[in-house]
Amino acid sequence: MSYDNNNIFAKILRGEIPCDKVYETDHAFAFRDINPQAPVHTLVIPKGAYVSFADFSEKASAEEVVDFVRAVGHVARLEGVSDDGYRLLANIGKNGVQDVPHLHVHVTGGKHLGCAFPPSAKTD
Ligand code: 5GP
Repeated sequence: MSYDNNNIFAKILRGEIPCDKVYETDHAFAFRDINPQAPVHTLVIPKGAYVSFADFSEKASAEEVVDFVRAVGHVARLEGVSDDGYRLLANIGKNGVQDVPHLHVHVTGGKHLGCAFPPSAKTD
């Protein structure tokens, strides 16, 4: 999957479409998912044009990687799910059923999330 500059998260980063922003750093941005699957459902994305975790881990600078990882942890604290626990999820590529081709980590919590496996019934 190649990077598409017109993907929805690129548009959010450019301010072309609105979002419910939670947190922002030099290299990361977090906003609430438009279709939440839990009381807390926030997406954390790097600001750089990376499609996947493989892409990001190979091409991003150490500063970007550190900033992004810290942002994920910070968002969990900001959203109040750190103490009771939460789930991080990154859907990657076709088999991972990634809908938006810009790397993103879902931070979900605020309730008991049940067993992560088997995965949901999402099949396409
Ligand atoms: P994926 O399946 O790629 O891991 O997840 C993409 C996520 O982006 C979905 O959970 C979906 O609800 C969310 N999403 C798609 N379009 C928008 C949007 O325009 N705004 C926000 N805030 N979330 C979106």
